[in-house]
Amino acid sequence: CGIVGYIGTQAATDILMAGLEKLEYRGYDSAGVATIWEGDIHSIRAKGKLYNLRQKLEEIANPAQIGIGHTRWATHGKPEEYNAHPHTDTRRRVAVVQNGIIENYRQLREELQKRGHEFSSDTDTEVIPHLIAEFLQNLPTPKNPLPTPLLEAVRQTVNRLKGAFAIAVICADYPDELIVARQQAPLIIGFGQGEFFCASDTPAIVPHTSAVLNLENGELARLTPLGVEVYNFGGDRLKKFPRTLNWNP
Ligand code: GLU
Repeated sequence: CGIVGYIGTQAATDILMAGLEKLEYRGYDSAGVATIWEGDIHSIRAKGKLYNLRQKLEEIANPAQIGIGHTRWATHGKPEEYNAHPHTDTRRRVAVVQNGIIENYRQLREELQKRGHEFSSDTDTEVIPHLIAEFLQNLPTPKNPLPTPLLEAVRQTVNRLKGAFAIAVICADYPDELIVARQQAPLIIGFGQGEFFCASDTPAIVPHTSAVLNLENGELARLTPLGVEVYNFGGDRLKKFPRTLNWNP
C-alpha cells in the first residue's frame, strides 16, 4: 500500500525504512526492502509491523546506495512473508514493488510459467519482475528504443499490464538506475543533490527535499544519481520539472 525508493550516496536501507514509517498511516499487513549490494539483489521481507522488518535488517548491515521498499495491503495472496514485496524474477536479478492491482495477472502468469518461469508467491505483482527479466533477455527492437535496456524493458512490461498500479524497479545488472511507472495509483519523485527519492505520498519525501514531481498516468521515469528523465508509455521523452512543496509540518 506504500512505495518508497532511493538512489544516491547515503545508506539506502535507513532512508527506505524512515520513508515506510511515514507511510504507515496508509495501513499494511507486511513490509519489505530490496537493495543492490555487491552485485546482487538483497530482498528482506517480514509479516506484520515494520518493527519485525527492522529486526531482520539489523542482522546484516548493508551499505547499499540504491533500493526500494514497500508496505503491503494484501489484495491477491495471503498476508504472509512469501507474498510480501519486493518480488523478484526466477534468477533474482530484478526486484519490484507495486501498489494496486494487475487485473490480467492470471493470463500473464500462465504464459510465463509455460516459458519456464518459476513463481514463488500468490500475488498479482510477481508477473512484473518476470516480464521485465524476460524482456531484458530478449528485447524486441522498437524504432526508437529508450536509452537503457532496463528502462525499455520496464516500458515494454507496463504496456502489457492491465489495471491500476504504481511500481518501482531495480535490477542487479543495472545498479545505477531506479525505474518507476504510474497508471492510476500515486507516485511522487523527490529531487535532492546527487540523490533522488520516490514514494506514494509526500510525507516520505519532505524530510529530504521540497522539490517534487508528481508522475502522471501513463508515465515512467528513470532515476540515476545524476538526474531524472520522464517518458510516456509510448516511449516519448517528456519535459518535466519539479515544483516546490509548501510544507508546514
Ligand atoms: N496487489 C498487490 C498485492 O496484493 C499490491 C497490494 C498493495 O497495494 O499493497 O500484493
